Amino acid sequence: PGTLYVVATPIGNLDDLTPRAARVLGEVDRIAAEDTRHSARLLAHLGINTPMLSLHDHNEAKRVDTLDRSLVAGESIALISDAGTPLISDPGFIVVRELRARGHRIVPVPGACALIAALSAAGLPTDRFTFEGFLPAKPSARRQALEASRAGSETRVYYESPHRIVHTLETLAEVLPERDVVLARELTKTFETFLSGVPARLLEILREDPNQSRGEFVVIVAGAPGVAHGFEEEQSIAADALLEALISEGVGI
Ligand code: SAM
Repeated sequence: PGTLYVVATPIGNLDDLTPRAARVLGEVDRIAAEDTRHSARLLAHLGINTPMLSLHDHNEAKRVDTLDRSLVAGESIALISDAGTPLISDPGFIVVRELRARGHRIVPVPGACALIAALSAAGLPTDRFTFEGFLPAKPSARRQALEASRAGSETRVYYESPHRIVHTLETLAEVLPERDVVLARELTKTFETFLSGVPARLLEILREDPNQSRGEFVVIVAGAPGVAHGFEEEQSIAADALLEALISEGVGI
């Protein structure tokens, strides 16, 4: 039987496609793509003419049997989305879950992912973070989601669209006014920008320069100041001090 490759594609800069991804896309029998017209441009750029079939949120469940039959027949397939890593706020989860349950071999071909790119350069803690995907579209639900994130000490990462960014910052300014926030905009593209500050400061910047609210965004919000984490650290410092005191007293342990 064939293999399903889950292939990451660029999030802006086409050079971010890995050589392995290009090889796989050229070698598989078919490419299942979120939007075949969009991906046709990437494939043309790479000089690849592998046949494509569409796989998006509305037909994903129906595609499972088709892909299953292809794999059973020995074909290999690449799954891609419009940008970045499939399944990460993108289609593919149902197909991967179902085909894995049917015993198929599924191989990741990693590469660009906006949330990881944003975290890697934002300068907020990365030891623990929660990826929240897109905030709900409805203002009241968005506020609730942000309020619910108030307590956790881990960094939160959100995807956001340009027409909602100002509203999200306004809500953040009310719900989490003291938190450090980083806006990672247009990652890997010409106008890549990182802005950081408390929500009210970021709002000022966006209001002064409307260009700053254009494009694609990852919003990263610092966690609640070190409650659980700080406590653990203090405990371990206290334990070390105690141990040292015992050793210098000559207590056998
Ligand atoms: N699968 C993609 C990934 O691996 O990151 C995410 C797809 S999701 C439908 C699109 C969202 O990802 C955008 O609304 C934005 O929040 C974020 N995103 C994608 N590309 C980006 C970029 N170049 N700069 C900033 N954010 C980006």
